[in-house]
Amino acid sequence: MEHGSSHRTHWIGGKPWTGGAAIRGDIYNPATGQVSGSVDFATAAEVDAAVGAAATALPGWREASLTRRASVMFEFRELVRSHQAELAALITAEHGKVAADAAGEVARGLEVVDFACGIPHLLKGAFSENVSTGVDAYSIRQPVGVVAGITPFNFPAMVPMWMFPIALACGNTFVLKPSEKDPSASLLLAELLAQAGLPDGAFNVVHGGKEAVDALLAHPDVRAVSFVGSTPVARYIYETGTAHGKRVQALGGAKNHMVVLPDADLDLAADAAVNAGFGSAGERCMAISVVVAVDPIGDELVDKIRDRVAGLRVGPGDQEGSEMGPLVTREHRDKVAEYLDSGVAEGATMAVDGRQHPVSGGAADGFWLGPTVLDHVTPRMRCYADEIFGPVLAVVRAVGYAEALAVINANPYGNGTAIFTNDGGAARRFTHEVEVGMVGVNVPIPVPMAFYSFGGWKASLFGDTHVHGAEGVHFYTRGKAVTARWLDPRHGGVNLGFPVNQ
Ligand code: NAD
Repeated sequence: MEHGSSHRTHWIGGKPWTGGAAIRGDIYNPATGQVSGSVDFATAAEVDAAVGAAATALPGWREASLTRRASVMFEFRELVRSHQAELAALITAEHGKVAADAAGEVARGLEVVDFACGIPHLLKGAFSENVSTGVDAYSIRQPVGVVAGITPFNFPAMVPMWMFPIALACGNTFVLKPSEKDPSASLLLAELLAQAGLPDGAFNVVHGGKEAVDALLAHPDVRAVSFVGSTPVARYIYETGTAHGKRVQALGGAKNHMVVLPDADLDLAADAAVNAGFGSAGERCMAISVVVAVDPIGDELVDKIRDRVAGLRVGPGDQEGSEMGPLVTREHRDKVAEYLDSGVAEGATMAVDGRQHPVSGGAADGFWLGPTVLDHVTPRMRCYADEIFGPVLAVVRAVGYAEALAVINANPYGNGTAIFTNDGGAARRFTHEVEVGMVGVNVPIPVPMAFYSFGGWKASLFGDTHVHGAEGVHFYTRGKAVTARWLDPRHGGVNLGFPVNQ
């Protein structure tokens, strides 16, 4: 990729696509509000070319030895590490998140690469000798074929890295359709995979929107689809992909609650609520968007949160000292800001109004919205019911643990949650009773490590398999059970009965 170039195109068959695109999208720098580049949008023809390149590369790559596939992952790991700052700069320029946050997402993505380096161990099957006299049985897992990944704007490096390192290490070939809002990081990752020795065509990137996605979902050579994004699109991807006979895992949106029990360390809880609510401007699927304050600590907790929010430095992501950047687009910023008015109109209290927060060093046209805290929110309000995906923290008051738990379990989403308490019994009861896929105890963003699997419950996941960890390996492979008998003097004889152990 030419890093000075502001035009981005597809990566097909180990090189940039050279055709002329009928449609291009604008890329914005959210901190200036200005167009910084353009990106080609794929039609079905470019998607077909990318899937074709992946299908052509498949026989060679799936036959590559486990050690060869692992060694490509080890090389890739070193290359990503040495390009971490460059990747982070691309992310900040197009997404807006601050530099440290962008570097952090690359680091979390690298943990999945570390995990994929262990593929020889991860693909070990089971072997049982003498299941019948002279007969052995064993299980193996094989790649599913060409697989596709469709990813959201909010983690342009990490979310693709939840998928392709494991898919490739398992012997599949891959077509990535990243978010059209921040397409550049995926292209640098494609270059680094090529430098690491991945054969041409084993990893491809097509850009664009619904047309490109629909072409992937309908393509007969795409065997499996991993999706991460909003719930309505996740549901659509799951229904359409499975209707076309594909294996699909589709991770959706979230509304993550943090319960604060009266015995909790309120300073720790306030720090956690601010970090998890406003990090990356709240544009994280594991961001805390609702604090459930259990009586009687609500007022004290809100005061502590208010004090901390006042000191947050909002500014351009590439500016030293910025703690929170802009939102990704003007439309998204305006949509998030609407919830401030609607929340107050429905009876919430404006504890902190982000529209009045100072922006240091930001251009006037940047997509700014400071951190907001809405207090006394109730589940019937729109600002509670909708996934806002911005720097808006709602505080719901609950009279006791049971009410707090009931609020969470009645919510249609089930991605992440956390409880803050010093009572181990209460924490244990919560982790047992809450209907959410990822749970933190005094940890506000309980993102599982790469060797566990990431995924929510209810409307936060369509499909059966979470991403990375053992479930990721499972998703990108098919199991086969083999029963084998080698010639032995005792073999043979006609027997029309059902095969049973002798
Ligand atoms: P999005 O659903 O708008 O887009 C995700 C992907 O789908 C993009 O590649 C986009 O081009 C494509 N897409 C958008 N509309 C489509 C349509 N109608 N048909 C087909 N494809 C379409 O999501 P986003 O705004 O990029 O990302 C934010 C969302 O992602 C939030 O809802 C957030 O909670 C969610 N998210 C979830 C997780 C998770 O692990 N559960 C992680 C990150 C983000």
